[in-house]
Amino acid sequence: MARSKSPRARGTGAATQRERALGPRSNGPATGDGEQPLRIIPLGGVGEIGKNMYVIEYGDDIVVIDCGLMFPDEEMFGIDLVVPDVAYLRERRDKVRAFLITHAHEDHVGGLPYVLPEFPGVPVYASTLARGLLGIKVKEHKLTSNPLLPLDPGDEQPIGPFTAVPFRISHSIPDAMGIALRTPIGTIVHTGDFKFDHTPVDGILSDFAVLARLGEEGVLCLMSDSTRAESPGYTPSERTVGEAFKEIIEPLDGRVIIATFASNIARVQQVLDAAATFDRKVSVVGRSMEQNFRIATDLGYLRYDADRIIPKDRISETDPGRLVVATTGSQGEPMAGLARMANRDHRFVEIQPGDTVVVSASPIPGNEEYVARTIDNLFKAGANVIYHAIRHAHVSGHASQEELKLMLNLTRPKHFMPIHGEFRMQVQHGRLAIETGVAPENVFIIENGSPRPAGAGRLRVRRWPVSRRRR
Ligand SMILES: [Zn+2]
Ligand SMILES: [Zn+2]
Repeated sequence: MARSKSPRARGTGAATQRERALGPRSNGPATGDGEQPLRIIPLGGVGEIGKNMYVIEYGDDIVVIDCGLMFPDEEMFGIDLVVPDVAYLRERRDKVRAFLITHAHEDHVGGLPYVLPEFPGVPVYASTLARGLLGIKVKEHKLTSNPLLPLDPGDEQPIGPFTAVPFRISHSIPDAMGIALRTPIGTIVHTGDFKFDHTPVDGILSDFAVLARLGEEGVLCLMSDSTRAESPGYTPSERTVGEAFKEIIEPLDGRVIIATFASNIARVQQVLDAAATFDRKVSVVGRSMEQNFRIATDLGYLRYDADRIIPKDRISETDPGRLVVATTGSQGEPMAGLARMANRDHRFVEIQPGDTVVVSASPIPGNEEYVARTIDNLFKAGANVIYHAIRHAHVSGHASQEELKLMLNLTRPKHFMPIHGEFRMQVQHGRLAIETGVAPENVFIIENGSPRPAGAGRLRVRRWPVSRRRR
């Protein structure tokens, strides 16, 4: 099954000299034993949180993992969203064989509507829920020229000289995957966004067995989520949020409004479960959350009694003590549900004294101001607000240091590339890799657009050295 028993030894001799001279951007000749160089090129997602897009190139074939977007920060006046610079792909259009999607968060799929039109006919592979959610984008942006094909955990999908082997991973959206990509010179493991949740809400665990088997076979390069590489310990289970919801709701006799990410289906499930415990009805409010709720229900990713749900136009006539409203806007987005309710600008929900609002999210860096203003306005309107600074009704979907080390120890990669993080997070993650035994010269802290060729174990790349953590 394995293409290579273990990562290949470092090359020596004339070929090495010649390739060194060619430099990292060269499409140089095949390496000494007839192999092409393998290149990993992040077009987005390193040195930043957002617009993830990783190109993997071998000879005349390219696959792309994820195609995200990023929302602009405050200095980028007049810009609505930021997508990766795909010049590198545009110049190699005929080589692009497939887009592989790890999960349906916007920082992984949001760029597709802007990028796919340049690559007509190239298929997009995604898991069942991701395909369901992508269906909305396909319809809205008329992306019908790119087939949307199934790629679910347990599949093995050959694509040119590659084989994609997706595996199950826990994250803040169901059906999230990592992808192992077998290449002619060794296996690359891309973790996707992950944490190791041992009691996930949907009961489906990360696939430890596949990760261990990949480690056993030999992993040439691990590309792993660095979002929480600065956080010691473990990220708590998503299930702890459900307990918090129940503790918050139990003593209340007024209305409860819970704001979270529209895509966090597990969180919405826990709102439904907590409401059921206290026999409250649930109303789902907010365009993206309503869409996701419908699709997740249709595909069987949400479980609830149909009579638990009440339509939003019946909120005003429902006994406040018997109601929970799930809504969007946990990042203070001005046009989303929560901010409009706070500004008394919402058609169906007007905040009133006696309401309790739970902001079930932490502000993403850059959004703190919006979140703070929204919370202020909710208090002014008479609500009690439970938010990150007061009490945790939220956990991250990303792995902390001990989980990151477990990923490294399971896969035992020869080379390591921390991805999905700002520079300092990549550095911290690189240090964890060194602590678990990856050779310091094999840890690659790289920036968007730097190609990282790996030919017969040789790697040449513009990069920053990682120093061991000082104790
Ligand atoms: Zn994600
Ligand atoms: Zn992400």
